[in-house]
Formats: sequence, C-alpha cells, structure tokens
Amino acid sequence: MAKLTRDITRGYFKHMSKVYDTTYVHKQSDPNIKAIAFALDLMRIMDDEVFLENYAITICSPRRRLIYLPFKPGGRAVPLLQQIELCTHEHHHVRQYDRLGVGHQTKYLFDADYRAHKEVRALRCNMEMHYKLTKRVLNPHLLAQSLKAYRLSNAQIRVVQKHLEEAARVVAQGGIHNHPSKVGWRWLKKQGF
Ligand SMILES: [Zn+2]
Repeated sequence: MAKLTRDITRGYFKHMSKVYDTTYVHKQSDPNIKAIAFALDLMRIMDDEVFLENYAITICSPRRRLIYLPFKPGGRAVPLLQQIELCTHEHHHVRQYDRLGVGHQTKYLFDADYRAHKEVRALRCNMEMHYKLTKRVLNPHLLAQSLKAYRLSNAQIRVVQKHLEEAARVVAQGGIHNHPSKVGWRWLKKQGF
C-alpha cells in the first residue's frame, strides 16, 4: 500500500475541493475568523479559543462553500491521516448543506440535538477513512468525547456514542457509506492505496 505523504495529502484536498466546489481558508489568514469565533461562542456552540486553535468549520451559502481549516493541507502542524479524515468530514457537511439547504445550517447552529445528529453522520467519514488507511477502527468513545467541545450534554454524547458504535461495526467490515469517503477513497486507490 502507498504511504500517505504531504504531496498526496495536498492532492487529496485539491481533488475534494474540485469535486464539491469548495474553497479552503486558513483560519489565521482570514480577518473575519475572530468574528466567527465570537459568534460561535455567543451561540453557545463552542468556546472561541478552542475553535480558533483546533477546529475546522464549513460555512456554505448559495454562492460559496468555505472550509475554514486550522492548518495548511499537507503541512506539518497536524498528522496527515488526521488531515485526510477532517477533509472528508467537512465535505460531508457540504453534502448535508446540498441535500438540506440553508435551513439545515440554521438548525445546525441553534438546535443541539440536530447538531449532534449531523456530527455523528460526519464522524462516520473519519472512521471510514481511518479504517481504509490503517485497518483500525477509531474508538467510538473517544470520537464521541471529541464532541464535548461542541457543548453537547452528557446525554447527547451518550446517544452519539451509541450511534458511532453501530457505525463502527459496519466500518470494521470495510464498508463505506458516506459519499465523500467514497469519492476520497476512489482517488486514493488511484494513487496506489
Ligand atoms: Zn463536523
């Protein structure tokens, strides 16, 4: 199997943005990012400092689909495998927007149950790509805990974990369900994976 390199990772991001018509914005380079962080904090979605340092966010409108990243694709700041997972995950949010429209984004922002549900679906991309590239299943408990930063309640985190455990059983058999994972894996296979 080929090895994940910086070039392949950059190529992956490029391919995904071409397929889904997205633009990446490096968070540090966008003067609006602090306003976005402040708004997320205000809406009690995420602590602004946590967001600025660690998290990606996808914001879609009928005109543009922007994916704000906390790193440069192919850069050294974040492990390459994690970059591939995150890229696939964020493109799943783009798919959700395409399927469900502007109302989806509003609901995502204001309804924590809805947000938890949509994150579960997107986290499946992380599991799928991680499994395809390592033959290991990401731990559903740790993945669910990662959503604590989204200010979900303990009860919501437990529901998330249950759904991720169910997904893990399918992922462990090599099954891919999410569209961006299929698109991404097809491209990686062409690179020798
Ligand atoms: Zn997400």
